[in-house]
Amino acid sequence: MSPDDVTIVEVGPRDGLQNEPNPVPTERKVAFIAALADAGHRRIEVTAFVHPKAIPQLADADEVASQLPRREGVVYTALVPNDHGVARAMKTDVDQWALFTAASETFNQKNIKASIEESFERFAPVLAAARESGRTVRGYCSTILHCPYEGRIDPSMTVSVVRRLVDVGCSEVSLGETIGRATPGEVRDLCGRLAVEGVLDRCAVHFHDTYGMGCANALAAYEVGVRTFDASAGGLGGCPYAPGAAGNTATEDLIFMFNGMGVKTGVDLDAQVEASALMEAALGRQLPSHAYRALRARGKGPKPGHLEMS
Ligand code: MG
Repeated sequence: MSPDDVTIVEVGPRDGLQNEPNPVPTERKVAFIAALADAGHRRIEVTAFVHPKAIPQLADADEVASQLPRREGVVYTALVPNDHGVARAMKTDVDQWALFTAASETFNQKNIKASIEESFERFAPVLAAARESGRTVRGYCSTILHCPYEGRIDPSMTVSVVRRLVDVGCSEVSLGETIGRATPGEVRDLCGRLAVEGVLDRCAVHFHDTYGMGCANALAAYEVGVRTFDASAGGLGGCPYAPGAAGNTATEDLIFMFNGMGVKTGVDLDAQVEASALMEAALGRQLPSHAYRALRARGKGPKPGHLEMS
């Protein structure tokens, strides 16, 4: 891999589907994950070991995680927020566990009902179990620049939470711009501060397209040195705790941009469209990704009628 190349973390099966009103049958989730792996993805976030009442759409986490299509070199990630999640995740061969906190106290309270301090207390048993079982842990820091409740977030607060996630043992920290409100100048500034702190090389970015800034922000982060980008197939997803938040930056949009720049993602764009089309058919609603829709209009992906399932 050249230092200019990037890694996309496909978060559609978890972050995308948890925000869809209708549950998707387990077998269609598994087929979707297989199609994503076959498209070339090496990092896929597949589900969340949370209470089924918290996220009913992912109530089949144990089933999905036990049916993961094994492919050479593919790392599957799942959210494991606490020791209840650990007990379930240990029974599966999910490779990497993910934890959640935020740079905003109010968002953390609303999202996971814990202060930032308490969130780190909950992480301790998860980190210990991951270490003992030879798994890596990915930390998410939400509301890196804007909070739906507190407004603008002091970037030094974000830097301190990211630093702490690295210090407690997260191999990577995903910087979540939860409400999609940020613009490239803010992203450049924050990434610059993280570089000065010496942690930017451990960071991925997770942008949303609420104001159409997803790819612009990704490009700003790329130019400062970020090489790992969260994205979701077709632009699936949003955030139930952030009113008005649109979907994640779409995988197709990012691949199209990087392809045009000569930056390798390792993912085949046409095969990505095929994978997203599977989920579009399962959901019965049009996916928002610009590149996905443009490519579908040009005849890429399965022909209409080929995806109808009973
Ligand atoms: Mg998201």
